[in-house]
Amino acid sequence: MIDYQEILEEIYEEVTKHYGEGRVADYIPALSEVDPRQFAFSIVTKEGDEYHVGDSSVKFSIQSISKLFTFTLALDIYSRELYKRVGVEPSGNPFNSLVQLEYEHGIPRNPFINAGAIVITDTLINHYGDDYKAFEVVLNFVRDLAGDSSITFDPVVSTSEMEHGFRNLSLANLMKSFDNLDNDPRVVVQTYFKQCAISMNSRELARSVLYLANGGVDPVTGKEYITKTQARRINAVMLTCGHYDASGEFAFHVGLPGKSGVGGGVVAVVPGEMGICTFSPALNKYGNSHLGTLALEMFVEKSGFSIF
Ligand code: GLN
Repeated sequence: MIDYQEILEEIYEEVTKHYGEGRVADYIPALSEVDPRQFAFSIVTKEGDEYHVGDSSVKFSIQSISKLFTFTLALDIYSRELYKRVGVEPSGNPFNSLVQLEYEHGIPRNPFINAGAIVITDTLINHYGDDYKAFEVVLNFVRDLAGDSSITFDPVVSTSEMEHGFRNLSLANLMKSFDNLDNDPRVVVQTYFKQCAISMNSRELARSVLYLANGGVDPVTGKEYITKTQARRINAVMLTCGHYDASGEFAFHVGLPGKSGVGGGVVAVVPGEMGICTFSPALNKYGNSHLGTLALEMFVEKSGFSIF
């Protein structure tokens, strides 16, 4: 029997020695002001048992982790049809790169780079009729997954993103020019920024990805969100694309399906076992949490959990 709490405490001890390394996201003021000396590690097992260490109650901007939830919703609605508009190949490029999108005719490589997530948001706006309704569905979905109806988004973050979001708007405009965006690019990007600005803590996020560790069904409530096959596909895309151009490195060092966000969160899934979330705002050069990645590597070493 593995003593998870002991492992988390050992990790905390070791990883916090690395405070001072990496840099917080500085592309918008709201994120650049976050204290980099924070760290949390949360586990929620399929039995519903929870283990936490560090700043696990601190809410942070989930940013690109939201792409996991919108991908799930869109896959549930459109099934295979979705892949006409977004692929499932690693991009090998930074998350906000424009180049590949031009020569691949506006079809983003995968749902986890910005262009892919913007397309996914567009499909949700189509399905739900308008941007407000689509965002409400996304928010209610994460509330349901986390079992907390008070989860909300930070309008300061989303407004600031909109003021500085030239590159994301370029991605949306470029896709519109290739006919791969149905709605007004500004509206789609605004909705995308709102989903990125959802605030959650590591406890809630670890709980929220538990359905992916259990074939699409929340093992605690019994709610079926997606099919087993869809859950398997999402885990595969997380493994190959969840950390952008550092996805290979993450698979090499950690070997679990994972998804990062520039707010400093990383979620990971141990299939058949647990949902995990680490949080530490200082990022490595790929825009992934520096300490969070280190901590996950230590966790797989200590627990032996890895899909390889
Ligand atoms: N809101 C961020 C952006 O669009 C999300 C990027 C991320 O978390 N990697 O640039």
